[in-house]
Amino acid sequence: MVNLDKYSSIFIANWKLNGNSSFLKHYYEKLKVNSNNCTVICSPSIYLKSLKVNNNNLFSGAQDVSSFKEGAYTGELSASMLKDNNIDFCLVGHSERRQYFAETNGNVKTKSSNLIEENIIPIICIGETLEEKEKSLTEEILSTQIKNSVPNLANHKNALIAYEPVWAIGTGLTPTLDEINEVHEFIKNYDQKFINFKVLYGGSVKSSNSKEINDLSHVDGCLIGGASLKVDEFNTIIS
Ligand code: PEP
Repeated sequence: MVNLDKYSSIFIANWKLNGNSSFLKHYYEKLKVNSNNCTVICSPSIYLKSLKVNNNNLFSGAQDVSSFKEGAYTGELSASMLKDNNIDFCLVGHSERRQYFAETNGNVKTKSSNLIEENIIPIICIGETLEEKEKSLTEEILSTQIKNSVPNLANHKNALIAYEPVWAIGTGLTPTLDEINEVHEFIKNYDQKFINFKVLYGGSVKSSNSKEINDLSHVDGCLIGGASLKVDEFNTIIS
């Protein structure tokens, strides 16, 4: 399992349903990873084998995994298959999967636990909707998500949490810096066991705001969607 403690920051690129072979070739020709940081590229699964890794500060990640370990589940990919193909990270419970594929906290917990058993680090995504934020329910929603989607065997060495307000994903909107730091502090203080967890922020991170977000005392890195597709922009974010 990757040693998360050795990095000052962790940056995850979520390409979502984007990319092709020539995009990949161009991307890795220009990608410049920073040696103090951990950079993880999460591509569509068909390209996972083509991603470049150096097992030092550049890794590959899947965007999802099956809840099942094996059997008659057409179209699924198991945690052990990801491990067999040297994948070290996997996004779990991204809001797009919760929203469009009806993924529940229970599914997220099972998937995360299967990944940890295979020594793959789950990046467990949690976050409130705009409606929930406006009703001041952020802490309540996050508490429920943490309680029901983070498995008991997760700890700061084998799992990551990503705070991604749903209303900030792909919208250009972000919480204020104070709000981000307060929510991250809330997550780390939710229970004694989360104090040392690395908590990443995701939602409209770009080169113009990444430094101020990543410099916050309770932020340990960022999860980047749209801006990770532009390699020059991503290089600035991770530099
Ligand atoms: C994401 O997909 O997790 C994400 C944060 O997207 P964006 O950076 O485009 O808001």
